[in-house]
Amino acid sequence: MVYTVGMNAQGNSHSVLQALEAVPVQAIEKLAELYELLDQDIAQRQPICNTSGRCCRFEQWGHRLYVSTLELAHFRHMIQISTQAQPVANTSRSAISFPLPLYAENGTFNPGCPWQIEGLCTARSARPLGCRIYFCDTTAESWQQESYEHYHQQIAALHQAFDIPYHYMEWRHALALLNPP
Ligand code: SF4
Repeated sequence: MVYTVGMNAQGNSHSVLQALEAVPVQAIEKLAELYELLDQDIAQRQPICNTSGRCCRFEQWGHRLYVSTLELAHFRHMIQISTQAQPVANTSRSAISFPLPLYAENGTFNPGCPWQIEGLCTARSARPLGCRIYFCDTTAESWQQESYEHYHQQIAALHQAFDIPYHYMEWRHALALLNPP
């Protein structure tokens, strides 16, 4: 399982937002180039998607997706989402929708990714590393952990090269810092 490592963004929302604002566009472009190489790498391996997007329904699938600061900045750039002036704690949760509501009525996260509609990803060009590399295909188990670590190290190196503070956040906590597009 390549998703379930790291911390969530609660408690350091301000520092994540500050870091996001400071990410230079050159770093986002470098990450886009890296994603392109990764996508070519994955295409050559020809893994099979057997479960029609069920892995994006995290509770049902039993795992979590995590992203770094630069991946979140790339996602925001691609989808053209602005950050909030204030972190989500000061915002009505019911107003946050990407394009499906992030929160349920009881204030907890809705199950699954709010970008998945009828089994399809609606943010495909922007999706982070974990989404690109995870396949339920059992033949993928032999290479995906190693590939995740390989590309994740390169993403960490981009943080260093561009002096971007490194945060590693659970996906929906990270989305909660952004305004709906
Ligand atoms: S961004 Fe797309 S691929 Fe990633 S979890 Fe959401 S719906 Fe799934």
